[in-house]
Amino acid sequence: MKETVVSGIRPTGKLHLGNYFGAIASFIRMQNDYNCFFFIADIHSLTTHPVPKDLHSSVKQVLAEYIALGLDPNKCTLFVQSDVPQVTELYTYMNMNAYKGELERSVTFKEKVKSQPDNVNAGLLTYPVLMAADILIHRAQKVPVGKDQKQHLEMTRQFGNRFNRMYNVDYFPEPEAFSYNEELVKVPGLTGGGKMSKSNSEADAIFIADSQETNQKKIMRAKTDSGPIEKNQNKPQEIQNLFDLMKLVCSKKIIDQYENDYNNCEIKYGELKKALAIDMEIFLKPHREKISEILQNYKLIAEVAEIGAEKAKASANKTISEVREIIGFRKFY
Ligand code: AMP
Repeated sequence: MKETVVSGIRPTGKLHLGNYFGAIASFIRMQNDYNCFFFIADIHSLTTHPVPKDLHSSVKQVLAEYIALGLDPNKCTLFVQSDVPQVTELYTYMNMNAYKGELERSVTFKEKVKSQPDNVNAGLLTYPVLMAADILIHRAQKVPVGKDQKQHLEMTRQFGNRFNRMYNVDYFPEPEAFSYNEELVKVPGLTGGGKMSKSNSEADAIFIADSQETNQKKIMRAKTDSGPIEKNQNKPQEIQNLFDLMKLVCSKKIIDQYENDYNNCEIKYGELKKALAIDMEIFLKPHREKISEILQNYKLIAEVAEIGAEKAKASANKTISEVREIIGFRKFY
């Protein structure tokens, strides 16, 4: 039997190149080999109080992008978290043995307390419990996580094990962190930082759905230096970032040519950026066109969401009825 994988993404707008190469590209391969549940974490996103119209359009955008980029509803279960309310029932049960002290020690919680001191709500504190419920509801064995999420996964294991001990059962498997690639891909941003992210400035990320002009402009404005002064010198971070981005979309021949130019102090950054922008567009164009086609096909999006919700609910219902039995909620009729 195939092992179960669960992974969620928050609906915070358009997907960027980092999301694609760091997560979605491996999901596309994973869906052939595992029993995959991929969901859009719209309940999690309520901690930041989105207005209803924005929430709906963000969920629609991410769902359309997932479909367009290659997640296949016939191969995986692609669903919207709030369509499967069983997860909130499990979250309630898990909250009964998640303790204030351990939740307050979560690194992400501490960061949020600093970044949004006026909105330290209970949902934020119990975010790792909802995340645990997302994973445990499908009794997943594997969870693709980045480094920043390792602590949350550790808490999931703790909550699952605690439940098993409390009721003297061997019910929830221990989910393990999972990387489909040998090496985790880290996509750099355009503003010289380490990692492309939508929480950095707008200029940092290349969004897959954005127009050619927008992305070309961003690439042409990417941070560079005044050029190498010694042959074969090490590259500063912002220049290494451009070469790393080239590795994602350009041929080896083109990369070798600019490596040579750099090593011989003959590099013209404007030309390198033009070459990067051309190959980026060759890569992005079919994806962008597919995203826009699917975004206009509301019926298809609705169908995919419905099929996903049915499959996820079937799996979640089985867990919830077994958990209710274990807890001692038994029917009188
Ligand atoms: P986020 O919406 O920023 O939480 O990103 C969702 C997922 O996309 C992350 O858990 C990573 O797997 C992946 N991701 C985001 N940014 C990058 C990046 N710059 N490089 C590689 N992977 C990334």
